[in-house]
Amino acid sequence: MAQLTDRFGRQIEYVRLSVTDQCDLRCFYCMPRGFRDFEEPGHWLTFDEITRVMGAFGRLGVQRVRLTGGEPLVRKNLPDLVSRLAALPGINDISLSTNATRMRKHARALRDAGVSRINVSLDSLKPEVFKQVTGGKLEKVLDGLMAARDTGLSPIKINMVAMKGVNDGEFEDMVEFCLEHGFTLRFIETMPMGDTGRHASRDHYLDLQTVRARLEERFDLVPGVMPGGGPARYMQVVGTDLRIGFITPISQHFCETCNRVRLSVDGTIYTCLGQEHNLELRPLLRAGCSDTELFDAIRRAVDLKPERHEFRDRPEKLLRFMSMTGG
Ligand code: SAM
Ligand code: SF4
Repeated sequence: MAQLTDRFGRQIEYVRLSVTDQCDLRCFYCMPRGFRDFEEPGHWLTFDEITRVMGAFGRLGVQRVRLTGGEPLVRKNLPDLVSRLAALPGINDISLSTNATRMRKHARALRDAGVSRINVSLDSLKPEVFKQVTGGKLEKVLDGLMAARDTGLSPIKINMVAMKGVNDGEFEDMVEFCLEHGFTLRFIETMPMGDTGRHASRDHYLDLQTVRARLEERFDLVPGVMPGGGPARYMQVVGTDLRIGFITPISQHFCETCNRVRLSVDGTIYTCLGQEHNLELRPLLRAGCSDTELFDAIRRAVDLKPERHEFRDRPEKLLRFMSMTGG
Protein backbone atom coordinates (compact mmCIF):
# COMPACT_ATOMS: atom_id res chain seq x y z
CA MET A 1 0.00 0.00 0.00
CA ALA A 2 1.24 3.51 -0.83
CA GLN A 3 3.02 5.19 2.06
CA LEU A 4 1.93 8.35 3.83
CA THR A 5 3.58 11.41 2.35
CA ASP A 6 2.40 14.94 3.08
CA ARG A 7 2.09 17.92 0.70
CA PHE A 8 5.68 18.93 1.42
CA GLY A 9 7.18 15.53 0.60
CA ARG A 10 7.70 14.45 4.21
CA GLN A 11 7.09 10.76 4.80
CA ILE A 12 5.08 10.06 7.95
CA GLU A 13 6.49 7.00 9.67
CA TYR A 14 6.03 7.86 13.33
CA VAL A 15 2.94 8.25 15.54
CA ARG A 16 2.90 9.72 19.02
CA LEU A 17 0.00 8.00 20.67
CA SER A 18 -1.54 9.68 23.70
CA VAL A 19 -3.33 7.08 25.82
CA THR A 20 -4.58 9.60 28.39
CA ASP A 21 -4.65 13.35 28.99
CA GLN A 22 -4.45 12.81 32.76
CA CYS A 23 -1.33 12.98 34.85
CA ASP A 24 -0.25 12.48 38.44
CA LEU A 25 2.13 15.48 38.20
CA ARG A 26 1.51 19.10 37.24
CA CYS A 27 4.62 20.43 35.50
CA PHE A 28 3.94 24.15 35.40
CA TYR A 29 4.81 24.48 31.70
CA CYS A 30 2.43 21.65 30.77
CA MET A 31 -0.75 21.76 32.86
CA PRO A 32 -2.35 24.31 35.20
CA ARG A 33 -2.02 23.38 38.89
CA GLY A 34 -5.67 22.74 39.78
CA PHE A 35 -6.55 21.42 36.33
CA ARG A 36 -9.30 18.78 36.25
CA ASP A 37 -11.04 19.41 32.93
CA PHE A 38 -10.03 16.09 31.41
CA GLU A 39 -11.52 14.25 28.48
CA GLU A 40 -14.47 12.15 29.59
CA PRO A 41 -13.81 8.40 29.65
CA GLY A 42 -16.57 7.70 27.12
CA HIS A 43 -14.48 9.68 24.59
CA TRP A 44 -11.25 7.76 25.16
CA LEU A 45 -10.42 5.47 22.30
CA THR A 46 -10.67 1.91 23.60
CA PHE A 47 -7.72 -0.47 23.21
CA ASP A 48 -9.65 -2.13 20.35
CA GLU A 49 -10.06 1.22 18.61
CA ILE A 50 -6.43 2.22 19.17
CA THR A 51 -5.26 -1.12 17.84
CA ARG A 52 -7.43 -0.74 14.76
CA VAL A 53 -6.13 2.76 14.03
CA MET A 54 -2.51 1.82 14.64
CA GLY A 55 -2.97 -1.26 12.46
CA ALA A 56 -4.08 1.06 9.66
CA PHE A 57 -1.09 3.34 10.25
CA GLY A 58 1.18 0.26 10.18
CA ARG A 59 -0.21 -0.72 6.78
CA LEU A 60 0.42 2.83 5.57
CA GLY A 61 4.10 2.66 6.41
CA VAL A 62 4.25 3.84 10.02
CA GLN A 63 6.90 1.82 11.82
CA ARG A 64 7.34 3.57 15.13
CA VAL A 65 4.92 4.37 17.93
CA ARG A 66 5.62 6.33 21.08
CA LEU A 67 3.15 5.99 23.93
CA THR A 68 2.68 9.28 25.68
CA GLY A 69 0.12 11.48 27.41
CA GLY A 70 -0.52 12.99 29.93
CA GLU A 71 1.18 10.29 31.89
CA PRO A 72 0.70 7.05 29.94
CA LEU A 73 1.08 4.85 33.03
CA VAL A 74 -2.07 6.42 34.48
CA ARG A 75 -4.03 4.44 31.86
CA LYS A 76 -4.92 1.01 33.26
CA ASN A 77 -3.52 -2.17 31.70
CA LEU A 78 -1.09 -0.34 29.44
CA PRO A 79 1.08 -3.47 28.91
CA ASP A 80 -1.94 -5.18 27.31
CA LEU A 81 -2.13 -2.40 24.74
CA VAL A 82 1.63 -2.63 24.14
CA SER A 83 1.39 -6.38 23.38
CA ARG A 84 -1.37 -5.73 20.90
CA LEU A 85 0.57 -2.95 19.17
CA ALA A 86 3.72 -5.08 19.08
CA ALA A 87 1.83 -7.75 17.14
CA LEU A 88 0.75 -5.35 14.37
CA PRO A 89 2.37 -5.80 10.95
CA GLY A 90 4.67 -2.89 10.13
CA ILE A 91 5.07 -1.59 13.68
CA ASN A 92 8.58 -2.47 14.77
CA ASP A 93 9.46 0.05 17.46
CA ILE A 94 7.40 0.86 20.56
CA SER A 95 8.73 3.44 22.97
CA LEU A 96 7.31 5.29 25.95
CA SER A 97 7.55 8.82 27.36
CA THR A 98 6.92 8.84 31.08
CA ASN A 99 7.47 10.81 34.24
CA ALA A 100 8.55 7.49 35.85
CA THR A 101 6.47 7.88 39.02
CA ARG A 102 4.88 4.46 38.35
CA MET A 103 7.81 2.77 36.68
CA ARG A 104 8.83 0.61 39.64
CA LYS A 105 5.49 -1.18 39.39
CA HIS A 106 5.25 -1.45 35.60
CA ALA A 107 8.75 -1.56 34.10
CA ARG A 108 9.04 -5.33 33.77
CA ALA A 109 5.54 -5.85 32.33
CA LEU A 110 6.11 -3.06 29.83
CA ARG A 111 9.44 -4.47 28.72
CA ASP A 112 7.98 -7.98 28.41
CA ALA A 113 5.07 -6.61 26.38
CA GLY A 114 7.40 -4.97 23.86
CA VAL A 115 8.47 -1.50 25.00
CA SER A 116 12.07 -1.22 23.90
CA ARG A 117 13.12 2.17 25.16
CA ILE A 118 11.86 5.01 27.28
CA ASN A 119 12.19 8.76 27.72
CA VAL A 120 11.88 10.07 31.25
CA SER A 121 11.15 13.69 32.15
CA LEU A 122 13.50 14.94 34.83
CA ASP A 123 14.00 18.67 35.15
CA SER A 124 15.89 18.81 38.44
CA LEU A 125 17.90 16.68 40.83
CA LYS A 126 17.00 18.93 43.74
CA PRO A 127 13.88 17.79 45.61
CA GLU A 128 12.64 21.33 46.26
CA VAL A 129 13.12 22.48 42.65
CA PHE A 130 11.56 19.27 41.36
CA LYS A 131 8.58 19.91 43.63
CA GLN A 132 8.32 23.51 42.46
CA VAL A 133 8.24 22.41 38.79
CA THR A 134 6.09 19.28 38.98
CA GLY A 135 4.29 19.35 42.34
CA GLY A 136 5.64 15.81 42.94
CA LYS A 137 8.36 13.93 44.77
CA LEU A 138 11.78 13.54 43.17
CA GLU A 139 12.50 10.43 45.22
CA LYS A 140 9.67 8.49 43.59
CA VAL A 141 10.81 9.43 40.09
CA LEU A 142 14.42 8.45 40.77
CA ASP A 143 13.24 5.14 42.17
CA GLY A 144 11.13 4.50 39.06
CA LEU A 145 14.01 5.48 36.83
CA MET A 146 16.39 3.03 38.52
CA ALA A 147 13.75 0.28 38.31
CA ALA A 148 13.51 0.88 34.57
CA ARG A 149 17.28 0.75 34.20
CA ASP A 150 17.51 -2.47 36.24
CA THR A 151 14.88 -4.08 34.01
CA GLY A 152 17.18 -3.55 31.05
CA LEU A 153 15.13 -0.95 29.17
CA SER A 154 17.66 0.77 26.95
CA PRO A 155 18.46 3.39 25.96
CA ILE A 156 16.91 5.54 28.65
CA LYS A 157 16.79 9.19 27.66
CA ILE A 158 16.36 11.90 30.25
CA ASN A 159 14.33 14.87 28.99
CA MET A 160 15.21 18.08 30.80
CA VAL A 161 13.29 21.24 29.94
CA ALA A 162 15.89 24.01 30.30
CA MET A 163 14.46 26.93 32.27
CA LYS A 164 16.11 30.19 33.16
CA GLY A 165 15.81 30.93 36.87
CA VAL A 166 14.53 27.43 37.62
CA ASN A 167 17.05 24.69 36.78
CA ASP A 168 19.78 26.60 34.92
CA GLY A 169 22.24 25.96 37.73
CA GLU A 170 21.93 22.19 37.26
CA PHE A 171 22.89 21.38 33.68
CA GLU A 172 26.39 20.19 34.53
CA ASP A 173 25.04 18.11 37.45
CA MET A 174 22.54 16.44 35.14
CA VAL A 175 25.35 15.60 32.69
CA GLU A 176 27.30 13.97 35.56
CA PHE A 177 24.17 12.09 36.69
CA CYS A 178 23.62 10.68 33.19
CA LEU A 179 27.28 9.76 32.88
CA GLU A 180 27.09 7.88 36.17
CA HIS A 181 23.98 5.90 35.24
CA GLY A 182 24.48 5.40 31.50
CA PHE A 183 21.52 7.54 30.43
CA THR A 184 21.26 9.76 27.37
CA LEU A 185 20.45 13.41 28.14
CA ARG A 186 18.28 15.71 26.06
CA PHE A 187 17.66 19.35 26.72
CA ILE A 188 14.38 20.84 25.51
CA GLU A 189 13.43 24.47 24.92
CA THR A 190 10.18 25.62 26.54
CA MET A 191 7.38 25.91 24.02
CA PRO A 192 4.37 28.25 24.30
CA MET A 193 1.63 25.66 24.67
CA GLY A 194 -1.75 26.17 26.41
CA ASP A 195 -2.22 28.81 29.10
CA THR A 196 -1.10 26.97 32.21
CA GLY A 197 -1.21 30.10 34.35
CA ARG A 198 2.58 30.46 34.16
CA HIS A 199 4.07 31.54 30.86
CA ALA A 200 7.14 29.29 30.98
CA SER A 201 8.25 30.05 27.45
CA ARG A 202 8.17 33.81 28.02
CA ASP A 203 9.54 33.99 31.55
CA HIS A 204 11.95 31.04 31.62
CA TYR A 205 12.95 30.47 27.99
CA LEU A 206 16.59 29.58 27.39
CA ASP A 207 18.10 29.33 23.92
CA LEU A 208 19.86 25.94 23.91
CA GLN A 209 22.72 27.33 21.82
CA THR A 210 23.85 29.12 24.99
CA VAL A 211 23.40 25.96 27.07
CA ARG A 212 25.55 24.04 24.65
CA ALA A 213 28.25 26.72 24.69
CA ARG A 214 28.27 26.61 28.47
CA LEU A 215 28.60 22.81 28.58
CA GLU A 216 31.47 23.01 26.11
CA GLU A 217 33.43 24.98 28.69
CA ARG A 218 33.31 22.04 31.07
CA PHE A 219 33.01 18.95 28.82
CA ASP A 220 34.80 17.95 25.65
CA LEU A 221 31.90 17.68 23.16
CA VAL A 222 32.00 16.46 19.57
CA PRO A 223 29.05 15.98 17.16
CA GLY A 224 27.44 12.60 17.84
CA VAL A 225 24.69 10.45 16.41
CA MET A 226 21.86 8.69 18.13
CA PRO A 227 19.87 5.98 16.33
CA GLY A 228 16.20 6.97 16.35
CA GLY A 229 17.27 10.33 17.68
CA GLY A 230 14.33 12.25 16.23
CA PRO A 231 14.61 16.02 16.13
CA ALA A 232 17.43 16.31 18.66
CA ARG A 233 20.88 17.38 17.53
CA TYR A 234 23.40 15.27 19.41
CA MET A 235 26.83 15.87 20.86
CA GLN A 236 28.98 13.21 22.49
CA VAL A 237 31.19 13.66 25.53
CA VAL A 238 34.63 12.56 24.34
CA GLY A 239 35.93 9.39 25.97
CA THR A 240 32.45 8.36 27.19
CA ASP A 241 29.24 6.87 25.78
CA LEU A 242 27.24 9.89 26.88
CA ARG A 243 25.25 11.62 24.19
CA ILE A 244 23.62 14.96 24.82
CA GLY A 245 20.74 16.00 22.59
CA PHE A 246 19.40 19.50 22.04
CA ILE A 247 15.76 19.85 21.02
CA THR A 248 15.36 23.38 19.74
CA PRO A 249 11.84 23.93 18.41
CA ILE A 250 12.19 27.67 18.96
CA SER A 251 15.79 28.68 18.24
CA GLN A 252 16.28 26.28 15.31
CA HIS A 253 13.08 24.60 14.18
CA PHE A 254 13.23 21.20 12.52
CA CYS A 255 9.86 21.22 10.74
CA GLU A 256 11.34 20.36 7.33
CA THR A 257 12.24 16.87 8.59
CA CYS A 258 9.09 16.30 10.67
CA ASN A 259 7.99 12.69 10.16
CA ARG A 260 5.17 12.39 12.68
CA VAL A 261 1.54 12.92 13.58
CA ARG A 262 -0.10 12.69 16.99
CA LEU A 263 -3.18 10.71 17.95
CA SER A 264 -4.86 12.08 21.07
CA VAL A 265 -6.82 10.03 23.60
CA ASP A 266 -10.13 11.14 22.10
CA GLY A 267 -9.11 9.91 18.66
CA THR A 268 -8.10 13.22 17.05
CA ILE A 269 -5.13 13.23 14.69
CA TYR A 270 -3.08 16.39 15.30
CA THR A 271 -0.70 17.02 12.47
CA CYS A 272 1.49 19.64 14.16
CA LEU A 273 2.25 20.35 17.82
CA GLY A 274 1.99 24.09 17.25
CA GLN A 275 -0.98 24.32 14.86
CA GLU A 276 -4.69 23.51 14.88
CA HIS A 277 -4.86 21.29 11.78
CA ASN A 278 -6.53 18.09 12.91
CA LEU A 279 -9.00 15.38 11.97
CA GLU A 280 -11.32 13.51 14.34
CA LEU A 281 -11.33 9.77 13.81
CA ARG A 282 -13.60 8.81 16.72
CA PRO A 283 -16.92 9.67 15.01
CA LEU A 284 -15.90 7.60 12.00
CA LEU A 285 -14.78 4.64 14.09
CA ARG A 286 -17.96 4.70 16.16
CA ALA A 287 -20.12 4.97 13.04
CA GLY A 288 -18.63 1.65 11.90
CA CYS A 289 -16.40 2.94 9.07
CA SER A 290 -14.79 0.46 6.70
CA ASP A 291 -11.01 -0.06 6.54
CA THR A 292 -10.96 1.84 3.23
CA GLU A 293 -12.72 4.79 4.88
CA LEU A 294 -10.22 4.68 7.75
CA PHE A 295 -7.24 4.69 5.36
CA ASP A 296 -8.81 7.61 3.46
CA ALA A 297 -9.34 9.57 6.67
CA ILE A 298 -5.72 9.06 7.73
CA ARG A 299 -4.54 10.23 4.31
CA ARG A 300 -6.77 13.29 4.53
CA ALA A 301 -5.32 14.10 7.96
CA VAL A 302 -1.78 13.86 6.62
CA ASP A 303 -2.76 16.17 3.74
CA LEU A 304 -3.65 18.79 6.36
CA LYS A 305 -0.17 18.81 7.88
CA PRO A 306 1.11 22.41 7.79
CA GLU A 307 4.59 23.28 6.63
CA ARG A 308 5.76 24.47 10.03
CA HIS A 309 4.80 25.66 13.49
CA GLU A 310 4.75 29.36 14.35
CA PHE A 311 5.96 29.24 17.95
CA ARG A 312 8.52 31.89 17.25
CA ASP A 313 6.53 34.27 15.02
CA ARG A 314 3.37 34.07 17.11
CA PRO A 315 4.36 33.05 20.65
CA GLU A 316 1.14 34.56 21.95
CA LYS A 317 -0.87 32.00 19.99
CA LEU A 318 -1.40 29.44 22.72
CA LEU A 319 -3.14 26.28 21.62
CA ARG A 320 -3.79 23.05 23.51
CA PHE A 321 -1.97 22.00 26.64
CA MET A 322 0.90 19.66 25.84
CA SER A 323 -0.81 16.98 27.93
CA MET A 324 -3.86 17.09 25.64
CA THR A 325 -2.03 16.71 22.36
CA GLY A 326 0.44 14.10 23.52
CA GLY A 327 3.86 15.66 23.99
N1 SAM B 1 4.17 12.55 31.15
C1 SAM B 1 5.19 12.13 30.25
C2 SAM B 1 6.46 12.90 30.50
O1 SAM B 1 6.43 13.88 31.25
O2 SAM B 1 7.49 12.52 29.91
C3 SAM B 1 4.81 12.22 28.78
C4 SAM B 1 4.04 13.43 28.32
S1 SAM B 1 4.91 14.98 28.43
C5 SAM B 1 3.67 16.09 27.81
C6 SAM B 1 6.13 14.84 27.15
C7 SAM B 1 7.24 15.85 27.18
O3 SAM B 1 6.70 17.12 26.89
C8 SAM B 1 7.97 15.97 28.50
O4 SAM B 1 9.35 15.74 28.29
C9 SAM B 1 7.73 17.40 28.91
O5 SAM B 1 8.83 17.93 29.60
C10 SAM B 1 7.49 18.07 27.59
N2 SAM B 1 6.73 19.32 27.68
C11 SAM B 1 5.48 19.53 28.18
N3 SAM B 1 5.11 20.82 28.06
C12 SAM B 1 6.15 21.46 27.47
C13 SAM B 1 6.39 22.83 27.08
N4 SAM B 1 5.49 23.78 27.26
N5 SAM B 1 7.57 23.12 26.49
C14 SAM B 1 8.50 22.15 26.29
N6 SAM B 1 8.34 20.86 26.63
C15 SAM B 1 7.18 20.52 27.22
FE1 SF4 C 1 2.52 15.26 33.44
FE2 SF4 C 1 4.43 14.89 31.62
FE3 SF4 C 1 2.89 17.11 31.58
FE4 SF4 C 1 4.64 16.80 33.54
S1 SF4 C 1 5.13 17.00 31.35
S2 SF4 C 1 2.49 17.43 33.77
S3 SF4 C 1 4.65 14.65 33.84
S4 SF4 C 1 2.21 15.06 31.22
